[in-house]
Amino acid sequence: MTLTRTTCPYCGVGCGVLAGADGTIKGDPAHPANFGRLCSKGAALGETTDLDGRLLRPMVNGKTTDWDSALDLVAAKFSAAIAEYGPESVAFYASGQLLTEDYYVANKLMKGFIGAANIDTNSRLCMASSVAGHKRAFGTDTVPGTYEDLEQADLIVLVGSNLAWCHPVLYQRIAAAKESRPDLQVVNVDPRRTATTDLADLHLQIAPDGDIALFNGLLAHLANTGALDASFTAAHVNGMAETIAAARLSDPADTGLPQEDLTRFFDLFARTDKVVTVYSQGVNQSSCGTDKVNAILNCHLATGRIGRAGCGPFSVTGQPNAMGGREVGGLANMLANHLEIENADHRAAVQDFWDSPTICTKSGLKAVDLFQACADGKIKALWVMSTNPAVSLPDADSVAEAIARVPFVVTSDIIEKTDTNAIADVLLPAAGWGEKDGTVTNSERRISRQRAFLKTPGDARPDWRIISDVAARMGFGNAFAYQSPADIFAEYVALDTALSATPRDLDLSIFADVDYAEMIPTQWPRNAHRFFADGQFYHPDGKARMIAVTSPQLSKPRFALNTGRNRDQWHTMTRTGKSQRLSAHLAEPYVEIHPADAIALGAGAGTIIRVESPNGSALLRAFITDRGPRGQLFAPMHWTRQRAKRGTINSVTSAVVDPVSGQPALKSGAVTAQVY
Ligand code: SF4
Repeated sequence: MTLTRTTCPYCGVGCGVLAGADGTIKGDPAHPANFGRLCSKGAALGETTDLDGRLLRPMVNGKTTDWDSALDLVAAKFSAAIAEYGPESVAFYASGQLLTEDYYVANKLMKGFIGAANIDTNSRLCMASSVAGHKRAFGTDTVPGTYEDLEQADLIVLVGSNLAWCHPVLYQRIAAAKESRPDLQVVNVDPRRTATTDLADLHLQIAPDGDIALFNGLLAHLANTGALDASFTAAHVNGMAETIAAARLSDPADTGLPQEDLTRFFDLFARTDKVVTVYSQGVNQSSCGTDKVNAILNCHLATGRIGRAGCGPFSVTGQPNAMGGREVGGLANMLANHLEIENADHRAAVQDFWDSPTICTKSGLKAVDLFQACADGKIKALWVMSTNPAVSLPDADSVAEAIARVPFVVTSDIIEKTDTNAIADVLLPAAGWGEKDGTVTNSERRISRQRAFLKTPGDARPDWRIISDVAARMGFGNAFAYQSPADIFAEYVALDTALSATPRDLDLSIFADVDYAEMIPTQWPRNAHRFFADGQFYHPDGKARMIAVTSPQLSKPRFALNTGRNRDQWHTMTRTGKSQRLSAHLAEPYVEIHPADAIALGAGAGTIIRVESPNGSALLRAFITDRGPRGQLFAPMHWTRQRAKRGTINSVTSAVVDPVSGQPALKSGAVTAQVY
């Protein structure tokens, strides 16, 4: 059996996979992300590519049709809305599941040809706070480090990250490093004890949103004990004095941690030269997520623990191509190639390169605001690509109602019956993993190829082609006359070359002469393994900025709801749900509840509990465990209304967002719980 070299479509680790049409799946020993390793989800990929449930033909109002009819209708409806109500009346909601080429084309159509920036993505739910924090500190959205830093560090601080379940191969790499170097210390900052905690020398069972107090406390300790890097900060960092002053005002009690744990952590950080702080959704998915990110970055900047082997803050993204989407500007507040919408020179450069009739002049609607605009009747045509917001956004019942209010809704998806497809007018069948070609970027800025090794089923088409076909029907054919994803990638690299005089971190020059068909996994930029080794940042004065942050006012609801992932499922289970062995891990929706809380409610193991907020409710089976403290509940996000039957957890979650990044707070919403 011929095996094709491709990339796993799940998490942001971006593991290399050798895949065969007979279902053979092996880890790619040559891929620098995983060196042959795979996790349970990756290893089961061969069990998820059957056609059961697939959307195979275009559909309009529930009836199958041909591509020309469907595409004509989509183009006509979008054009009519733009003509009558203006470019801001239409929106795209995309996905970190899209390949970079798909993202590039969608972003180009919306920002350069429709002339609005109403393209946002489910990556807003994943790492928008990291993007905002990076930009405030570095002047760019730059992930400084590389996976090797995890193996070269002497202390790894894992914050709000159940790496063992959500980025398992990175967890395996850290576990292997710790086995070979037992002195490598691991600190796990998480309100719950998770599978990741097993690896930790110290578990800081922090209060929800206590992270700013923790890292402000660390910064104050570093300042008070002379552990700052004065020469590095003098040369390369602004804002230190006021940031330390603000940090000293933080109340350690906000962490919820005993003083001896705080002292142990602070001393460990202060005396260890090589420290990597890995953070994920427990940091990002918060009403103060951006400030949390900057609280972490402040500690690394103040001590010069950045830009060196084994050092640095490290945001690990949840999705397979959240980074690629960021790179091509697939967010409502970015332009393309890490350029700024608000910068007139950047807009002119991109418009000139695209030779486009217009260019957006202001940021568009971020995910939660976008669906609020749908509810308010401001969006007249909506295109949802490769995602299921009617069940995956917070306050999902309201989102479903909002989508239903939009006069014309089109989705492009591989699955026919989703919660969002049920309320869409037009369904367009997209090609899935294994059926299409393109690229993805993983959390360490490594671009890898996804390659087709399966026949495309039915009438399915790759997303880039669907979007280009609609663009052509809207009158923009010349700019979207791509024949292959290689054409799109070449244009993306050429745009980067055209922008070479514009100071940015993104540098794709290493791809200028690459044979797309034979491309091996490659990190950008060309001449730097990790960023900021020279102490040069991207603010106009070349310095980084420490950002003064303060702890939020912490409320103490009777129950705080934390949501997240299971080890063996991905998003809304459209693929992983097909594998019996994956589904056997945790077979039904549940809520983790502390034994004392269970007794107080009168709940036993397996009792059905109603978890409720003003938004809605879900009935979940009690999983009684002391993994989390009293007053905290945890529920996985995977079960949709269709699968759960008794309500989905995002009917309960709230649409509160971080004011800087727009990322929803999905980790500590106030809820009630009672036996059903
Ligand atoms: Fe896929 Fe992530 Fe598992 Fe690697 S760690 S095999 S990328 S799900």
